[in-house]
Amino acid sequence: MRSFVLATFALLVPTMSSAQDLPALVNSELPQLLSIYKDLHQHPELSHQEKQTSALLADDLRKAGFTVTENVGKYDDGTQAYGVVAVMKNGTGPTVLVRTDMDALPVEEKTGLPYASTARSKNEVGDDVGVMHACGHDIHITTMIGVARALAQLKNQWHGTLILIGQPSEERVDGARAMLNDNLYARFGKPDFALALHDDATLEAGKIGVISGPVLAGSASVDVIMRGLGGHGARPEATKDPVVMSAQFINAIQTIVSRQTPPQDPAVVTVGSIHGGTKRNIIPDQVTMLLTIRTFSDQVKSNIVADLARTAQGVALAAGVPENRSPIVTNHENEGVPVTYNDPQLAATLKPVFVRVLGADNVLEPHPEMGSEDFGLLGLENHQIPVFMLRVGAVAPEKMAESKRTGQPLPSLHSSLFAPLPEPTIRTAVIVMTSAVLDLMGK
Ligand SMILES: [Zn+2]
Ligand SMILES: [Zn+2]
Repeated sequence: MRSFVLATFALLVPTMSSAQDLPALVNSELPQLLSIYKDLHQHPELSHQEKQTSALLADDLRKAGFTVTENVGKYDDGTQAYGVVAVMKNGTGPTVLVRTDMDALPVEEKTGLPYASTARSKNEVGDDVGVMHACGHDIHITTMIGVARALAQLKNQWHGTLILIGQPSEERVDGARAMLNDNLYARFGKPDFALALHDDATLEAGKIGVISGPVLAGSASVDVIMRGLGGHGARPEATKDPVVMSAQFINAIQTIVSRQTPPQDPAVVTVGSIHGGTKRNIIPDQVTMLLTIRTFSDQVKSNIVADLARTAQGVALAAGVPENRSPIVTNHENEGVPVTYNDPQLAATLKPVFVRVLGADNVLEPHPEMGSEDFGLLGLENHQIPVFMLRVGAVAPEKMAESKRTGQPLPSLHSSLFAPLPEPTIRTAVIVMTSAVLDLMGK
């Protein structure tokens, strides 16, 4: 409750001068920020490999006057993560955490931009892949540098402890967990609020999206190994065919959302990968399927995991698979994340701030999305720390207009064609995030 008393106090004493100074200050930093952005965009690094990116961020935050610790984070396999923690203490007051993610994706860039990435790297299974900031985490890192510089210069307008974190491996949703496992809060302080932003491939640059309550879905990562009895492709009667069983399973689970989940609770069940067999005339012993589940309710999520297990068992039973070859269904708890839940009180506190700095026309209320994030983990179990994630429009206005005219969808996040418009996206992001921090920590 202490944090809300502080937040309310901050609201009662608005920092008018910051609202006036901020755009000019950000404009003066913008040319440098844009060149940092292009540099980051040309040098993307995959999850678990953010060595140069984290070093660049750490260096810049240090130059801005923060006390910076690198290599914060421990993955489950014991390897060190490239997490960055930058702290600026400025008297007594609330502790506010701002988070950026840092990793890129195994996508070969096809935007044709002059600063397009040509980077390649080895992915987690050792394949050589193109690498691209196709989720715009380079926008987020650049924004953090802008926010750090602005808040360092406006130090007389806020008090408390500011913690900026560069989180690795968002795309594999193990980076936030790795930093928490490395005693993030015990070492650097437990925040009263945690803020983050994500660029948005459906909103126009210069506009932002503010959502109260669930903003991104929770996810579960489930593997289903459909086991049968392999044999000759011409003698199916001597086998239990896991390819046919997998086909039946995939069709059967299509009714989980339509028939077993309450229509009021949105859910997605996707089989993203299926592998089995080596040759036309061999019925394999097993087929492996990798699934993702998205929901806004933890209860619905666990019901769906149970539905999947029951359906797999049922298909195997119907095919006469012996008990010792029954399907193996694994829910990888560490690869799932809870719902990202924007604290309603925090959203209500910050929305008027954004309206004040951007104008009401530029502050929209988009729908929550079925995508997932690990940022919510920083709020700890049962929403102990109020968290808030903002959406920042990144689409060039002419592309938006063309999409409306032709009916063709815009490239989504993770697309090889996703090309955020750096300006005004970064300027807008720096202004709104800095304003949010000033509001929560303002004198
Ligand atoms: Zn992503
Ligand atoms: Zn992302």
